[in-house]
Amino acid sequence: MSQAYDTIVIGAGPVGSVAAHAFGERGDDVLLIEANPAAAARFAGEWLHPPGVETLDELDLTPIESAQGYEPGRGFVVFPDDGGEPIRLPYVEGRDGLSCDHREFVSELRDKASSHANVEYRSFVRATEVEPGRVRLEKERGDESRTVYGDLIVGADGKSSVAREPLGHSVDPEVVSYMGALMLHDFDMPFEDDGYGHVILGGPGPALLYRIDEDRVRMSLDVPIENETLRRDSEALYRAFEPVLPDSVASAMREALDNQPVQWAATHFQPHVHYGSDGIALVGDAVGSYHPMTAVGMTSGFQDVACLVDAPNLEAYRARRAHGSYVPELLSSALYKVFGGREQGAETLRSAVYKTWRTDEELCKRTMRLLSGSETRGRAFAGAFLKIAIRGAAETSVETMHQHGLTALTRVLATYVPWARWPLVSILPDRVQQRLRRKSTIDTPFALSA
Ligand SMILES: Cc1cc2nc3c(=O)[nH]c(=O)nc-3n(C[C@H](O)[C@H](O)[C@H](O)COP(=O)(O)OP(=O)(O)OC[C@H]3O[C@@H](n4cnc5c(N)ncnc54)[C@H](O)[C@@H]3O)c2cc1C
Repeated sequence: MSQAYDTIVIGAGPVGSVAAHAFGERGDDVLLIEANPAAAARFAGEWLHPPGVETLDELDLTPIESAQGYEPGRGFVVFPDDGGEPIRLPYVEGRDGLSCDHREFVSELRDKASSHANVEYRSFVRATEVEPGRVRLEKERGDESRTVYGDLIVGADGKSSVAREPLGHSVDPEVVSYMGALMLHDFDMPFEDDGYGHVILGGPGPALLYRIDEDRVRMSLDVPIENETLRRDSEALYRAFEPVLPDSVASAMREALDNQPVQWAATHFQPHVHYGSDGIALVGDAVGSYHPMTAVGMTSGFQDVACLVDAPNLEAYRARRAHGSYVPELLSSALYKVFGGREQGAETLRSAVYKTWRTDEELCKRTMRLLSGSETRGRAFAGAFLKIAIRGAAETSVETMHQHGLTALTRVLATYVPWARWPLVSILPDRVQQRLRRKSTIDTPFALSA
């Protein structure tokens, strides 16, 4: 191993592997290190939106072999909890996403990076200290340690990033919920032939289904953090979700639970605020975490890389990505609250979302552009949110006024006030947004008392 590199990438997860390849392609002499290659054998990102696929394409990393041989990701079918028919939300402009097993996807990207002529890959090597221009490394097997030097250090080391520490931002992300994963074998999803991911609502949290290879369909079940029983007791888990699942899905879940343990993963929220400075750039989950419900983590991480490799300096990178990741972050938190939340107003908003999706084709398209990360303008998010919220409020108001009078109506309308923070914050000037964002949580983009 040499001592000095143009670029040192810490972490060979999906985003670090893409980063190492991209800097290698640019002509940099790159060192890519990975502490624990087996970390990718966990339940994590498996669905990639079309802009993520496009970014891989631009970075010369397609085709993805692990996603071949079955229908690509064409969009989502949402099974609403209002008794109505499933709602189809295709990606717009004819572009496809992809889905595949996380471990296989990372292994393929890592192979592409490590076989690049300009990339030196070292596994079982952990970065223990990072400073501008240098990284202290320790071998995971054996007690060897050494220092390497790089003009640029890229922290792609996930949510507990060591590269974030010298930037003074080592706060751990907030745990939001737990996602239980099951593998369904020899199972055809209800909208299988068209390549749609399935989102089933009305359970303790959203349930997702998508194909990850010819034989296997992933089922993931989001469970609120406080509901420990569902994590401990698979029978209770089945009983909690079964009433909202189509019959074929419920039987497949039953069979899977009889034959395999549920694989649990914590989901996190951390606002994307710190993109780096002083020769240290952060990418992917090292910057922040979205709730996985909108499956945007890897797409956003790959966009970080494409932006960083092109940016004239770190300040330009920070400004572009801080802006570009804000709407996806607001959307993932707001959608999780509307679809998973039990607080006041969530049910009405959910029902307004369903009605709007059933009747307003333009808004369906906008939803999918926002969801996939191809539309990141605050006013597009605010417009869609307000249209839905006004519809919900109007319908409830008429009903409440009619049945319970003006006082009740005032009380009901007051429950909408906290929801107004989401569209409001998305249209504030960048400077104000970034200040509020530092203290944002999954529950609120800013505290009302701030
Ligand atoms: C349950 C769940 C479901 C998800 N579903 C989706 C989805 O469908 N679509 C989507 O886009 N996203 C999804 N995500 C998010 C997605 O998994 C992440 O955004 C993505 O894995 C981030 O990639 P990364 O490379 O930045 O970080 P990681 O995947 O965390 O990789 C970091 C790598 O760095 C290594 N490392 C850490 N510290 C060090 C160190 N000090 N030295 C050397 N190496 C180090 C780790 O071993 C690891 O290999 C999901 C997340 C969860 C939890």
